[in-house]
Amino acid sequence: MDLDCTAVLADVWLMLDGECDDATRARLQHHMDHCSPCIEAYGIEEKIKSLLSRKCGGDKAPDSLRDRLTLEIHKSITVFRSDSTEA
Ligand SMILES: [Zn+2]
Repeated sequence: MDLDCTAVLADVWLMLDGECDDATRARLQHHMDHCSPCIEAYGIEEKIKSLLSRKCGGDKAPDSLRDRLTLEIHKSITVFRSDSTEA
């Protein structure tokens, strides 16, 4: 699996900040099409799909969702990093 899951999480983060543009959406959609297990693993797949379907535009995630995603993303990036350094 050569998809860069960490980069995808960075894109998710951009979307949460309302920085979503067509290129970001396309990257996320493409990744979910080819690597949905990684998104599912964070338990945020439905949220991401919801953000995508709402076109992210101007509709920022509620603080509670932001907090949860922030936690998940930080945890995930930490896991990815430790995996890659210890492997
Ligand atoms: Zn992935």
